[in-house]
Amino acid sequence: MTIIDGKKLAETLKTEIAAQVAEIKAAGGKIPHLAAVLVGDDPASQVYVRNKVKSCEDVGFTSTLIRRPADATEEEILEVVNHLNNDDDVDGFIVQLPLPKHINEERVTLAIDPKKDVDGFHPVNIGRMTLGLPTYLPATPFGIMTMLERYGIDTYGKDAVVIGRSNIVGTPMSLLLSRKGNPGDCTVTMVHSRTKDLAAHVKRADIIVAAIGRPHFVTADMVKDGAVVIDVGINRIDDPTHPKGSRLVGDVDYDAVAPKSSFITPVPGGVGPMTVMSLIMNTLKASRKEIYG
Ligand code: NDP
Repeated sequence: MTIIDGKKLAETLKTEIAAQVAEIKAAGGKIPHLAAVLVGDDPASQVYVRNKVKSCEDVGFTSTLIRRPADATEEEILEVVNHLNNDDDVDGFIVQLPLPKHINEERVTLAIDPKKDVDGFHPVNIGRMTLGLPTYLPATPFGIMTMLERYGIDTYGKDAVVIGRSNIVGTPMSLLLSRKGNPGDCTVTMVHSRTKDLAAHVKRADIIVAAIGRPHFVTADMVKDGAVVIDVGINRIDDPTHPKGSRLVGDVDYDAVAPKSSFITPVPGGVGPMTVMSLIMNTLKASRKEIYG
């Protein structure tokens, strides 16, 4: 069994990208610039955005954090988006989700210029992904595809089961795994809360991607010997033995499943760090105008 060390791989990617940024700098080129918009003070969102800004600094990007209070109006946020769309120095930007309930997330996402949508959430970019055209891939599935590639995991003709069908993880993940190429060329089944006998589907999978948001949902009896197990879930559970009284776990019962798997991602330190790196890779693409010219 091999543990897919997302943290280490993210560090390797950081070093590679930092070297590319140094080359750009030496040649007098424009330094990639990522902006992040954070609305309100949701603690998890603050941590995510802080990690993204720090990763930008680590690779030598310029980063800008734009904060607005939780009671900011939708118009105010749309104004920020419009400003960033038209700021030539900003190559790409993200609006951290979830937004406060009174703001329509769809309207905000649609207002982002697809050329700068480095989160890959805009329907234009999702459409391009679906058609296999160059695009900004959504960060988490992109991070998982990068992991599969860098660990040399053979996906050709494999049965993959993706648990969860969200727009940001499950659905794009299913599409990418089914696409032609390597990684890809899988026969994909996407399961969700309405699936009958979900365990039977998971049990025949060569590759399992769990993106549900339920601690320890995937148990050892649901996993075939030698399966590749990618755990996207991030769940906080009570743990009185832990200094904080709680700890993070994935959607997979790691201790029981790991010995049966050929490859497995831990939580934390698996998919999470790769998600942040995808954003950095997309921003580099935006800065180089690789997708839209
Ligand atoms: P969503 O809540 O948007 O989607 C969850 C999906 O899981 C839904 O499709 C839902 O089915 C399905 N589901 C929920 N409960 C069950 C069940 N009991 N049986 C079968 N299917 C079920 O979550 P996300 O996709 O946004 O995130 C999933 C997890 O991944 C979360 O823990 C999140 O924190 C984590 N995450 C981690 C990231 C990382 O970087 N590591 C990035 C993004 C998310 P239905 O559609 O039928 O309701």
